[in-house]
Amino acid sequence: MTLESLTYASATELSSGLRTAEISAVELTQACIDVIAKQNPAVNAVITLCQESALTEAKAADLRLREGSAGPLTGIPLLHKDIFCTRNVATTCASKMLANFIPPYDATVVSRLRAAGTVMLGKTNMDEFAMGSSTETSVFGVTRNPWDLNCVPGGSSGGAAAAVAAGFTPLGTGTDTGGSIRQPASLCGITGLKPTYGRVSRLGIIAFASSLDQAGPMTRTVEDAALMLQAMSGVDAGDSTSADLEVPDFSGGLNQPISGLRIGIPKEYFSQNLDQRVADKIHQALDELVKEGAELVDIDLPHTEQGIATYYIIAPAEASTNLSRYDGVRFGHRCESPLSLTDLYERSRSEGFGEEVQRRILVGTYALSAGFYDAYFKKAQQVRRLISEDFQKAFEHCDVIAGPAAPGPAFPLGAKSDDPLAMYLEDVYTLSVNLAGLPGLSIPAGLVDGMPVGLQLIGRSFDEATLLRVGHRFQLCTDHHHAKPVLGGASQ
Ligand code: GLN
Repeated sequence: MTLESLTYASATELSSGLRTAEISAVELTQACIDVIAKQNPAVNAVITLCQESALTEAKAADLRLREGSAGPLTGIPLLHKDIFCTRNVATTCASKMLANFIPPYDATVVSRLRAAGTVMLGKTNMDEFAMGSSTETSVFGVTRNPWDLNCVPGGSSGGAAAAVAAGFTPLGTGTDTGGSIRQPASLCGITGLKPTYGRVSRLGIIAFASSLDQAGPMTRTVEDAALMLQAMSGVDAGDSTSADLEVPDFSGGLNQPISGLRIGIPKEYFSQNLDQRVADKIHQALDELVKEGAELVDIDLPHTEQGIATYYIIAPAEASTNLSRYDGVRFGHRCESPLSLTDLYERSRSEGFGEEVQRRILVGTYALSAGFYDAYFKKAQQVRRLISEDFQKAFEHCDVIAGPAAPGPAFPLGAKSDDPLAMYLEDVYTLSVNLAGLPGLSIPAGLVDGMPVGLQLIGRSFDEATLLRVGHRFQLCTDHHHAKPVLGGASQ
């Protein structure tokens, strides 16, 4: 295997190479480190590289492989979004506020993936505190889209998406509060799954909006997403919102046919907001699924348009509460020589948080304040219920819902940075899924002028298995997920 074929292989392929001893985990890990060393200066997807510990973990994985006690992820490299607490490894949320934070423990997702034998290469860049859709607000600088270095990779898990797309790693973790796994997956041409709220523990994930946050896999293939989800899922005594439900065998169900499956097409997802070229790709993708025996049905999600306003009340409200702990006393950056307690709070928070994070705190605090609570927060909760009910009604007529993951392909760096509302619209097709707590998958559906676009599939609560089955079927009959960027240039 050449270096390139190693780092662009899927975890499933690599796993069989490791088992037959065609490659070792140390060789594979070294190959990833070499690619990162060469390409990361241009992409800036990785903000912490754990070279030494990764090689030590790889050696341990090789031992398990030789002893025959290896699982399907043993020895597979991965990168964690820098929102997951990693023991003894800096966890910054891409913020000055947490620049010096070295967690004493691993997030449950991290410890579960460790237990599964993965090798942690390091941490990926993101929008500060996961607020954004472009990975431009990081204190470590912007991440660039490997398909066109002048474009954004999407966000907030843009570092992970760019890293998988650029061949740095077969596996990445992301978090998705309103679209942060699916939108960057779409813009970078990879597979990204946001599981049902409660499927994956949030313990040790730096909180943004606790009723919406969920962690999930970012991979090249649906097959790999199933493997990762298996390892990440399940109840956790440390997170009372994690669901005490049996975790199905996600990989085992992948090959079942999709004939007779009803795919709901919401007309609201194909309105004038959607780039026509993206719409064409989505329709082509749906044609493929019809060839495989699926049936398309028209459905309505009438409150789609209200999703944005609802989300941008609820998410900032929860964020303003979650971020109150960073006060320079209990947690986070502390200003120099404060003159008073108020001065300490004000300057620590003004210096530690970037502009978008401060905007969210202001909006959230306003929406929760005594005089405005009923008009904003309570109203938003009521509309959230209507959005959930839209999905429930739709799922009486279909088994999955399909549409675009983002309204267009990747946009140029800086194009939306001065216009928060334009940036918020990036998530118009994803955030109602979080408001309803449902699972959503984005898979590559082809290129538009050389840039990837994603097909989004939305499932019933805790029915990730159906999403994965449809996504895998799509990847069996198309090769969009094999397209890879020539760094900064045309596709191969
Ligand atoms: N872009 C959305 C926001 O800025 C979603 C972010 C996310 O999913 N973490 O809030």
